[in-house]
This record gives sequence, C-alpha cells and structure tokens, in this order.
Amino acid sequence: PTGEPPGLLRRVDGYNYAPDNKKSDRINATLLSLVRNSELKDMLQSVRDLERTWNHKFNYPWLFLNDEPFTEEFKKGIRAATKAEVKFELVPKEHWEVPSWINDDLYRESVEVLKDVQYMNKKSYHQMCRWNSGMFYKHPALKDTQYYWRVEPHVHFFCDVDYDVFRYMQDHNKTYGFTINIYDSPESVAGLWPATQEFIASNNHYLHPNNAIKWLQDDVNRRENFEKANGYSTCHFWSNFEIGDMNFWRSQAYEDYFQHLDRAGGFFYERWGDAPVHSIALGLFEDASKIHWFRDIGYQHIPFFNCPNSPKCSGCQTGRFTDGEQWLNKDDCRPVWFKHVGLG
Ligand code: GDP
Ligand code: MN
Repeated sequence: PTGEPPGLLRRVDGYNYAPDNKKSDRINATLLSLVRNSELKDMLQSVRDLERTWNHKFNYPWLFLNDEPFTEEFKKGIRAATKAEVKFELVPKEHWEVPSWINDDLYRESVEVLKDVQYMNKKSYHQMCRWNSGMFYKHPALKDTQYYWRVEPHVHFFCDVDYDVFRYMQDHNKTYGFTINIYDSPESVAGLWPATQEFIASNNHYLHPNNAIKWLQDDVNRRENFEKANGYSTCHFWSNFEIGDMNFWRSQAYEDYFQHLDRAGGFFYERWGDAPVHSIALGLFEDASKIHWFRDIGYQHIPFFNCPNSPKCSGCQTGRFTDGEQWLNKDDCRPVWFKHVGLG
C-alpha cells in the first residue's frame, strides 16, 4: 500500500533507507570512529570511501568520539561528506584516564625495557588501546545501540557492497566480522597469554564449547612469536576494521576478562593492543562459527589489504596483501584461521 518495492529489492536499492526515515530497514547499528581533530583530512578519506561504496545506499548513522572536544571545523567537514545522521561526542574522562593502580615510574621503566615496541612511549596510545578494549561500548551515546562498524582515519574501501552488512550480521547470528588477520609484535603482548591463562584457570565455565583456542595457540608459521608471547601465536583480527555485536563486549565473561587484564597492568607496562585482546576473547568465549570473514569488503589500512577478485572492486590489486616490503606478506595469518575454523 505504500507503493514501496518489496523485500529484497528494497534492500538492494536502498529505497527504504532514507536518512531520516524512522521506519527504515536499518537495524540498531552505527558507524563508529574514535578520532583526533588533527585527523580531519584522513577521516574524510575514510568517510568518503565508505559512503561511496556502501553507506550512501543505507545511511547508517555515524558516531565520532574523541577524548577532546571536536572543533567546529571537524564537525562541519564531516557533516558535508554524508547525508546520514552524524553525532560527535566526548569520551567520558573516567573511561580515558590511566587507572589509579598504574604506577608512573613503573610505566617509564617499562618504556625503557620495551623501547623497540612501537608506540610504547606514547601514553595516549596505551590509553586508546585500553579504551578500545574495555570502554568504547560503555559510552553513553551507544547505550541503546547493538552493532557497530569501526572506521579509522586514512583507510580505504574499494568494493561496492550492495547489501545491508549490519542486517547480514543480525540475520546470520554473527558476533564479529573481520577483513584482515595478522601476527602481532610478540614483545608487546608477552604477558597477555599468561594473564589469560590465569583468568581461565578460575573461570573455566566461560570457555565456549566451540571455541577457537587451537587458532590462538597455533605455532605453525611463527614459532618465535609463539615462544616470545608465551604460548599465544599473536595472530589477531586487525581491529582497525571491525563489525561487531556489542552484546559480546557487554557480556559478563568479557567484562570479567577485561577487569582481570586491566588489573594485571599490561595495557601500560606492556603494550597490549585491543586487537589481540578482542581476538583472544572471541577465540575463547565465543562460538567460532559466529565470526565472519568479510571477503567481499575491499579494505586497506596501511600497509595491508583485503582485496577480493570481483568486478565490484576498483583501486586495489586482486589478492594483494601488502604494498610494503615483500617480507610483510608473511604477516598474513588468515590461512591459520581458515585452517581451524573454515571460511565461515
Ligand atoms: P595505528 O593504526 O595502530 O597506527 O594507530 P592510530 O594512530 O591509527 O590510532 C588508532 C585509532 O585511535 C585511530 O582511529 C585514531 O584516530 C585513534 N586515536 C589514537 N590515539 C588517539 C587519541 O589520543 N585521541 C583520540 N581522540 N583518538 C586517538
Ligand atoms: Mn590506524
């Protein structure tokens, strides 16, 4: 009676996805970005790519978060790049600040010891990793939101995607979607697996019967990483891209795990990244079949690509993993994920 085209067609051509349509086919989801004012130009690159390849059809809202107030210039620049709803919010101080039990002298000593770890001496980077691990989904502006797509500044999207990706997650009961899977610097997470084992020892019941612990512990390609990281392969979902269901991060299992890690101090005394933390939690506490490789979303965050073989893609070279040094090709650990879990 409304004269709208039915079902599938509606989803494909985005007919019912007008930005201000309160009854649109959009599900409860948002595009999400933590970003600094100084990164406006790089953020616009990412927003324009994602709008062009996908979001202009679906008009999911954007939420931008920052530990400092956004400037008018930033807001104006971003608003001009999308017709979707856009919000800018501040990260609550208590979510960002260094926890009281972190000792600054000890942190500085750790920086000396681990001086070869990238960003080790940049305290805000540690804060960012901790925030992405255990805080972002607690932001008041996300209180009523279930799914998110994390978008960083200066990333590229290469392929037209014609379906509602969030609806796909919901309809197929997926918790987490990734594009790239790589090995981490083992020095940055030397204590993460031991801390995790300690947690499991007293929280065995949180392990999912269909977990991916074999993937987490597979030493096949990088025996050295496995040893330096004390039993963790360091293979992780590269979290600058994630499409996820925040109910997982909001679960008791993950909250207890995060609190345990936070108390252990490794977000500062080492440089635990949100990517390995998310990956280990997903690998242990979630049903592995609920984790999805978005092979069709062409993506780059320097220096790595996910570039499918499809006429829908342009601007990246099919199958290419890196445009950096050739030795970086061995950082790709997607095959290890597929070996244990399959293509999904
Ligand atoms: P890399 O990808 O690991 O090299 O790290 P990035 O510099 O890209 O940082 C990861 C994400 O966190 C990006 O979205 C940054 O914009 C954001 N970010 C990092 N540090 C800060 C910070 O101090 N403040 C804010 N607001 N965002 C940050
Ligand atoms: Mn980045």
